[in-house]
Amino acid sequence: MTTPAEPASAAAPAPSGRLPSGGIPPARTPSDSDSPTPPPLAPPPLAARPSAPARQLRAWHAELAWLPGRGVCSDVLIEAEGDRFTAVTPQTPAGDLPADLRGRLTRLPGLTLPGMANAHSHAFHRALRGITQVGLGTFWTWRERMYQVAARLDPDSYLALARAVYAEMALAGITCVGEFHYLHHGPGGTPYADPNEMGRALITAAAQAGIRITLLDTCYLSGGLSRRGERQPLAGAQLRFGDRDGEAWAARADALGADSHGLLSLLARAGAAIHSVRAVPLEQMHAVIAWAQRIGAPLHAHLSEQPAENEACLAAYRRTPAELLYDADALGPRATVVHATHLVGRDVELLGGSRTFACFCPTTEADLADGIGPARELAAAGCPLTLGTDSQAVIDMFEEARGVELGERLASGQRGHFRSGELARAATTDGHASLGWPDAGEIAAGAIADLVTVALDSTRLAGATTPRTALAKVIFAASAADVRNVVVGGADLVVDGHHLLVDDVPAALSAAITAVLD
Ligand SMILES: [Zn+2]
Repeated sequence: MTTPAEPASAAAPAPSGRLPSGGIPPARTPSDSDSPTPPPLAPPPLAARPSAPARQLRAWHAELAWLPGRGVCSDVLIEAEGDRFTAVTPQTPAGDLPADLRGRLTRLPGLTLPGMANAHSHAFHRALRGITQVGLGTFWTWRERMYQVAARLDPDSYLALARAVYAEMALAGITCVGEFHYLHHGPGGTPYADPNEMGRALITAAAQAGIRITLLDTCYLSGGLSRRGERQPLAGAQLRFGDRDGEAWAARADALGADSHGLLSLLARAGAAIHSVRAVPLEQMHAVIAWAQRIGAPLHAHLSEQPAENEACLAAYRRTPAELLYDADALGPRATVVHATHLVGRDVELLGGSRTFACFCPTTEADLADGIGPARELAAAGCPLTLGTDSQAVIDMFEEARGVELGERLASGQRGHFRSGELARAATTDGHASLGWPDAGEIAAGAIADLVTVALDSTRLAGATTPRTALAKVIFAASAADVRNVVVGGADLVVDGHHLLVDDVPAALSAAITAVLD
């Protein structure tokens, strides 16, 4: 694998509204670079967006749909032109519609949600599912096994693995992934001919699986901090993660070639990440932060996942990890801290006051025995919450969403910390905003036309459902297997539980994982 997503001709979608073969985004047009730069994170103006697919008209009729500001409504007519919704009209029985509209209507029985955003993913960790669950172990022994897989991946095997993992995400209703990507270089840290070959493999993988990606290109420079605050050099598989310094990271990130809107293709956006205060010295963070600020890109960082990180950071800097990021000007409404589990002192105040997103990954945090972060406290302080599948222990956004509430219940001995609408918002609107897609994650006119329909007649969900109970039922009882239909950018991606671009997702996963395990 040597090239980035091969731009396909801007072919019109198939008559069914399905994605063009391979889901590869069309090439950018010259007008992109000529158009004025919008404010950071503003959606590109329609005329400036990279040649959007032919502006096909679509119409869906949702039995139930979750709409912003209105909650769950019945009989919702949803219309789109090209990749944007044009109108959303509740209380519109299909039988009342004119015959020509009724004839091209796609019926969506069940509850229809906006596309979900997986705000924190390491695609290759999927290969470890079930393997690291056996026997005893800690976060650190899990990390050693993860490094063994990292050591075996190359651009071709990573493309195959990530394509299958992103297809699994699509089947789970995830239409956008934030890929926290640090496996940059070849064995021993030798760059590939194109130093971004691994990142481009991920972008291609997402396109082939039909979902949107924000490539959170991650700066990872040192092997960690000892408990006494001594910095350790990269070693073993970690050598593949490292750039020379922050400036070298920024030069490589620049070479990805984002346009003036931060877009890498129709379905891909550039973002940045500081792996953690363990992996990036303070003096090297500045280049990463400046790069993200310059192009208005999302900036993500792991934060206080383990108490040992706090101890080491306090020893090295006399500040907590949150204080260090705050002092470095890394926090703010374009920033996301991932985990935020072991917060102390004024950490919550700094994160909330700066309106930094807090990304919770409850299934991974439970699997790795990280602990339970202060989700309610962070939300109350001003942090929008987002959700991630992180280590891919499972890929199920409903489980992540309810995990936030259930964790609070276990920690506090009380119920009812988050309404189901707040948890759904974390999985959709706020997740997309944290990844630089503020115009996705809502079923509303003008938004990107992504839809996820959850069947309500499965074994898990069968029983009386009303508009008042439907969202809570799905958030607290649905699984990824209940997702029936997924639409991305106005085009069908999953129909009746079948992925249209990756025909046999389990077989693709099995082949890709077998290829990278010892
Ligand atoms: Zn992570």
